[in-house]
Amino acid sequence: MGKVSKGEACSLCGKPAVKSISAVEASKYFKVQGGARGRIYLCKEHYKEYKKLSKKDREIERLRW
Ligand SMILES: [Zn+2]
Repeated sequence: MGKVSKGEACSLCGKPAVKSISAVEASKYFKVQGGARGRIYLCKEHYKEYKKLSKKDREIERLRW
């Protein structure tokens, strides 16, 4: 999870970004344009969505154990 420098825009909707995650991670939950390389910037809304989706994933993993 990286800090976002000022002026970065969400890679998904173009709004101001608050977080960046790896493109590989992002591509699990979102359609990432330009392939899963480098970093993806997320705005507040998309980051919230990402957290929700990734949490669900972790819960499933926990059930497996
Ligand atoms: Zn966004």
